[in-house]
Order: sequence, then C-alpha cells, then structure tokens
Amino acid sequence: MSFELPALPYASDALEPFISKETIDYHYGKHHNAYLTNLNKLIVGTEFEHASLDEIVSKSDGGIYNNGAQVWNHSFYWKCLSPKGGGQAGGKLLEAIVRDFGSFDAFKEQFTTAAATLFGAGWVWLSKDSSGLLHITKESNAGNPLKHALTPLLTIDVWEHAYYIDKRNLRPAYIEDFWKLVNWETPEGLYV
Ligand code: MN
Repeated sequence: MSFELPALPYASDALEPFISKETIDYHYGKHHNAYLTNLNKLIVGTEFEHASLDEIVSKSDGGIYNNGAQVWNHSFYWKCLSPKGGGQAGGKLLEAIVRDFGSFDAFKEQFTTAAATLFGAGWVWLSKDSSGLLHITKESNAGNPLKHALTPLLTIDVWEHAYYIDKRNLRPAYIEDFWKLVNWETPEGLYV
C-alpha cells in the first residue's frame, strides 16, 4: 500500500496574512510531501507495508516512525487550521478545558508556553487520555501522543520550517498568529 498526500482543506493562500502561501507551498508541498515519499519507500518489504498510518505511528520506530509520524502530524496540523478559525473552543471541549486547566485563557497560556519553550524541533499537543482528562505535551522531532496511548485533539508544529519564511526566528509571533487560525471544530469533534 502506498500513502497519498491528503488534499489541503483550504486554498494555499487562504491562511494569509497569518501564514503565507509561500510557507504553505514549502511546508505542505515540499516538507510534508517529502516525509510521505520517504515513508512509501521505507515500508516496502517490511511488516508495515500494508499497515494503516495509525498502526505505523503506534508500533514502528526509527526511520519508518519518524517519517510516518511526520505524515500523520502534518495531515492533522492542516485540519487544526482554518481561514475561519480563531476565537475559543466550545461545547464539551470547553467544559473539559475549564475543568482541567481552570479557564480557557489559562489553557491558552500553558499551551503557548509549551510551544515557545520546546527546545529545537517538535510539536505541542492537546490530547485526551482514556478517562477523558486533557493533557498538554511537548514532543521532540516527530513525536506523536498515539505512542503514549493518548488521543491527539490539537497540535502546533514548531519546527522552524513552519514559520521561518514568514516570521524568521520569531516563534512567539507564529504562535500568536496560530491562535487566530485554530479550527476548533477539529478538537471539538474528537472530544466525545
Ligand atoms: Mn512541519
């Protein structure tokens, strides 16, 4: 089985002025696509040749994990953004955020700090555990919460390639604009 690049859920210039078309063209068209191409080559002749992407992320390691998780993470990241995004969470997710972090603003501050302080390349996640409790985790490189039996709800990519074209070294400015694009429908739909 060969994995395919999922279509972006919006036009490549739809996230402007917060994330430029040039960033999307590189991030989606080059980086995401390269992980996918690598994954498809690496799984040939291995036990993961016919596995689902979730299985690969949960069970593999080494190059297959790194590329497989990067494919999973990027496909999910695009769904966490929307030109109609921003604002705050609603419904049951908002209730759980208030229960577990004290308030929506406290959650946002904790997630922002995690994203700003993650050393090097990686991802920050909001996930739920098997009892529905919410967790913010920092993962280096390709790290994905599925590896720790957590269900991912929301993510931000803090690899430099996610923001360097638009913001150069200013990761905090990228995080600030991320909040203006968050598609809350994604985590709300997963928090059931
Ligand atoms: Mn990326």
